[in-house]
Amino acid sequence: MTVRVPAKVNLQLSVGPPRDDGYHDLANVFHAVSLFDEVTASDDIAPGGAVSNGAAPGGAAVTVKVEGESAHLVPLDGGNLAVRAAHALAERAGRSPGARLTIRKAIPVAGGMAGGSADAAAALVACNELWGLGLSTQELMEIGAGLGSDVPFALLGGTAVGTGRGEKLTPVTAEGRFHWVFALADAGLSAGEVYAECDRLREATGERVGWPQASEPLMAALAAGDAHGLGKALVNDLQPAALLMCRPLVRTLAAGREHGALGALVSGSGPTCAFLAESEAHASGLASALDAAGVCRTAVTAHGPVPGATIVPA
Ligand code: ATP
Repeated sequence: MTVRVPAKVNLQLSVGPPRDDGYHDLANVFHAVSLFDEVTASDDIAPGGAVSNGAAPGGAAVTVKVEGESAHLVPLDGGNLAVRAAHALAERAGRSPGARLTIRKAIPVAGGMAGGSADAAAALVACNELWGLGLSTQELMEIGAGLGSDVPFALLGGTAVGTGRGEKLTPVTAEGRFHWVFALADAGLSAGEVYAECDRLREATGERVGWPQASEPLMAALAAGDAHGLGKALVNDLQPAALLMCRPLVRTLAAGREHGALGALVSGSGPTCAFLAESEAHASGLASALDAAGVCRTAVTAHGPVPGATIVPA
């Protein structure tokens, strides 16, 4: 059972003051893009019916193997978000969680594109099928919300406004297709550390922070399929903190603007930078220009919006 799941970019990430529980209230406009991880879940049974790792069929073991983009940075133990998702689903269904998971990564690890959350969402869909549980997307989203704020959106896909910690989702109608370039960085950034730096910066500068709300110009640009309007309306409150923690990103963003990006911003908590292009051809030219300028590890193109976690036909 194989499930394909998209990365996200935040078209708007407005961050409220820290709450008592340590989280922040957000106005978060998620947009799913065509940069996909794949998660395969199979019964832990070797060919011929023998059990491969000593677990009984349907027994308590969840094993995981990771291939692809920065696979060596992904934990292979119970800290892997896909493994945690399989356990959470089994617990909800009142069954034991036997499965063998294989993750093929294309989403950068710790890149601000919610790759771990995407894998958790894919594992929920794959194990729901593998175990024949028949849970609805809504039920999977409830389980996902307990695993991480970005998991429900990876199930839903498209474009959506997230409020609360980002997990309360309202779908947004976006006209047409937007073309993107993502500049991947050498090392990751910890989302928790970027939020903490954002709080510190605001305290140091005395910035007053209002209640975060979805931006009207952004919503209007999405509804009209207006890439120029969208480029101007992109906003990320975490960007100043991410740029302080990773200075080379200043040059990366400037290079994208110099090559005609309609909008340029750090994706989520970074360090991936996102650039909105006029067309598919402009996106591929922009990606080549960023590669040639040496301002990122690699630049990849993608489009959005795309659907959330989807079963790949056998
Ligand atoms: P977000 O945008 O949601 O803040 P991110 O894209 O910056 O997240 P992830 O790729 O989700 O970051 O990885 C964050 C950390 O989660 C990694 O450093 C890694 O140790 C851990 N992790 C656990 N499971 C996974 C997984 N399946 N894929 C990637 N990282 C994982």
